[in-house]
Amino acid sequence: MRVLARFLAAATHTSHFPAPTLPEIAFLGRSNVGKSSVINSLVGAKMARTSSTPGRTRSINFFEIRWPGKPRPELIFADLPGYGYAKLSREISQEWPTFIEPYIMQRETLSLCVALVDANVPPQPNDRQLLEFLNASGRDFLLVATKSDRLSNNQLHNVLRTLSAEYPSARLLPYSSKTGAGARNCGNRSGKSPSRPHLRHRLPVRNF
Ligand code: GDP
Repeated sequence: MRVLARFLAAATHTSHFPAPTLPEIAFLGRSNVGKSSVINSLVGAKMARTSSTPGRTRSINFFEIRWPGKPRPELIFADLPGYGYAKLSREISQEWPTFIEPYIMQRETLSLCVALVDANVPPQPNDRQLLEFLNASGRDFLLVATKSDRLSNNQLHNVLRTLSAEYPSARLLPYSSKTGAGARNCGNRSGKSPSRPHLRHRLPVRNF
């Protein structure tokens, strides 16, 4: 997918959220799961910061997405703060109720949550917590197993089976930001405009 992305806002409070206009896709996951890399590979540019410092992005970062040839942006990506580092847990527990939970629970334009888990790491308690939270929120969500290039086909198959047993209600998609594997399920990488405008409707995912 070749799209044009523009940074809109970094929000650390609900009052910083941009006006709710376009459909939004939120990206969530533990720090270092590969979230920035996924966003950057989807938009084809370094929009999200790839973090060498754990949990460095402490705001919800909003990016407006426009397809080439289209006059207006059609979608917003929301990059949520990574979680899961013990030393930051207090900070996270303070942030979550102030702006992250309200964003997920109340944002009227939030169309899809993309929950990322590392395909190379067994399911973690905080991943489980996130998935349970998303289940309970009633939000449409997609579970993406990142860094799939680090595994052989057999290993990846086993990981996907484990994840689908662990999270039976989740729609599951393996993805590699490095090789682009899985990207064809996320959209058209030919550079042509997609036939349908919203990524939400362009994610044919498989259940394993
Ligand atoms: P974030 O903290 O969740 O935003 O994670 P980053 O996108 O910064 O990635 C964390 C680390 O994982 C970096 O060293 C990346 O180069 C690496 N990484 C991210 N995605 C992939 C992937 O698809 N394949 C491989 N092999 N490494 C990846």
